[in-house]
Amino acid sequence: MPERIAALRARAAAAAAAAGRNADSVTLLAVSKGQPAQLIRAAAAEGLRDIGESYLAEALGKMEALRDLPLTWHFIGRLQANKTRQVAEHFAWVHGVDRLKIAERLAAQRPYHAPALNVCIQVNLAGEASKGGVPAAEAPDLAAAVASLPRLALRGLMCIPPEEADPGRQRAWFAGLRQLRDTLNAGGMSLDTLSMGMSGDFEGAIREGATIVRIGTALFGPRGS
Ligand SMILES: *Cc1c(COP(=O)(O)O)cnc(C)c1O
Repeated sequence: MPERIAALRARAAAAAAAAGRNADSVTLLAVSKGQPAQLIRAAAAEGLRDIGESYLAEALGKMEALRDLPLTWHFIGRLQANKTRQVAEHFAWVHGVDRLKIAERLAAQRPYHAPALNVCIQVNLAGEASKGGVPAAEAPDLAAAVASLPRLALRGLMCIPPEEADPGRQRAWFAGLRQLRDTLNAGGMSLDTLSMGMSGDFEGAIREGATIVRIGTALFGPRGS
């Protein structure tokens, strides 16, 4: 694990340098779905603090087991309306907001003593039916509506683009998300986050401006079931 983390950090730093960016402008989000709590503890010992989980019940169990650690928990899975309360209560970030109804519930259910819940709007750039996310054309209206909600901090955009064999084509999807963020910022928003890039494509995502890369298998190895 220490070697893997060091290697990932070196690759991320090299990609950032190639884009003229500081290495510390990219957060390595450790995606631990399907992995036991001890592995998260080992990653935390190497300085990783941001942890991504996709399944609520699984995540809550690990939070309980790791409550002695100063971790920042990110919900990166598909969020159903009946799960929003516990997500609003237990997570610091939600990456996959793609419906106003979900955002409204999160805003209403975020505890008053907690800081604002950080959210990203998921954009489905390729219109893939199998994936969540709002079509790019609808992202501006959703972003404006979410930004106006109390208790939430709209931080930026997230995507899971199609897998492309050609790295240049892969990067084009990430560039598309960055351009959408730039358009929204030109229109008066101040979005500082692009959550994009996973184990197989994070370097291209960093080259295109990713500020959070979500890394699972390259960090923890294959997932159990
Ligand atoms: C599982 C998952 C990841 C991590 O995928 P790897 O290919 O294992 O790095 C990233 N983002 C989301 C939304 C995921 O569900």
